[in-house]
Amino acid sequence: MKEPGRVESSRNILEDAPKGLAARFAGLGFPAYRARQVLRWVYERGVYDFDKMTDLPLEMRRKLKTLFSVSLPVVAGSQRSREDKSVKALLKLQDGEFVETVYIPVKGRETVCVSSQAGCKFHCAFCASGQGGFFRNLTAGEIVSQVLAARDFSPQKKVSHVVFMGIGEPFDNYNEVLKAVRLLNSPETLGIGARKITVSTCGIVPKIKAFAGEGLQVELSVSLHGATDAVRGAVMPVDRAYPVGVLIKACREYARKTNRAVTFEYILIQGVNASERDAKKLAGLLRGMLCKVNLIPYNPIEEFPHAAPSYREVVLFQKILQGAGVQTTVRFSKGRDIQAACGQLRSAARHE
Ligand code: SAH
Repeated sequence: MKEPGRVESSRNILEDAPKGLAARFAGLGFPAYRARQVLRWVYERGVYDFDKMTDLPLEMRRKLKTLFSVSLPVVAGSQRSREDKSVKALLKLQDGEFVETVYIPVKGRETVCVSSQAGCKFHCAFCASGQGGFFRNLTAGEIVSQVLAARDFSPQKKVSHVVFMGIGEPFDNYNEVLKAVRLLNSPETLGIGARKITVSTCGIVPKIKAFAGEGLQVELSVSLHGATDAVRGAVMPVDRAYPVGVLIKACREYARKTNRAVTFEYILIQGVNASERDAKKLAGLLRGMLCKVNLIPYNPIEEFPHAAPSYREVVLFQKILQGAGVQTTVRFSKGRDIQAACGQLRSAARHE
């Protein structure tokens, strides 16, 4: 469904990499530097209206308006956390789908957590995002536009880091996610350093292998949450398709091939995967691998009534891993009071 009054054929500038836009402009007889000017307005200055791009000739602005658009999602709602300064925004895409995006300012970093799909197919028991099912993939432009929309919550209108940890499975929308990564990374757009971009996957093995060959310096996170198929498979159905052994082998190959550490995300859920025995199994599994572990105390959702372990148990779990030589940090999620923490995002308004 298109919004009334929209020009159906207009091309969203945010879908194009700088080279692609320059080629489109060349096709219209505009020199390449004109594309660069437009990109500067959009990405550096946050100006999305061709009429306000005052260094372009009037005639050109008129032409651009008929052929192109700069489409940002509508901010249908936003909540600011009282505990920290993070902001969760509910964004309405052009066809009426909703996604959530989180702006997280912490320790001099301004991180945006983007969604890669509306809904999710993977049904992890502990995660809100998949509970309502899957609606569709997002386009690269829709991913990039989340970063621009979230940038407005930053006092300095700056974004330093982007994490693909919102709704959806990035590697189930591989091509558009890769396109978005390259776009965000381009010095002619936002120029976000590859090392400041993190893609997180629930463990789609063929795509981990493909990603290793992309020649990108992007950070890869893998949601593990269990060191055996019995533990992991009980909460992550994807484990049946890609069991722990196969997944870890692919991650070891990734680390060898790229010489980059994989970060394993491990939610700690009391009575499920957080015992001393679980910690020892995990340490054994990762022994000798170029990797890090990020422990995330479980953020409860209604559909999975469990609790995070106590602080002492979290620290003990961390100590066991560290004792085995595995670099381990604990992520205390931001925005818990506004349901903006890891695993709490939903394509919410859709179901209202
Ligand atoms: N589909 C991708 C991207 C989502 S990332 C993935 O699975 O990696 C979101 C991160 O938050 C993942 O590590 C996910 O496992 C974690 N997460 C999901 N639900 C959570 C919850 N209730 N509490 C804490 N972390 C959660």
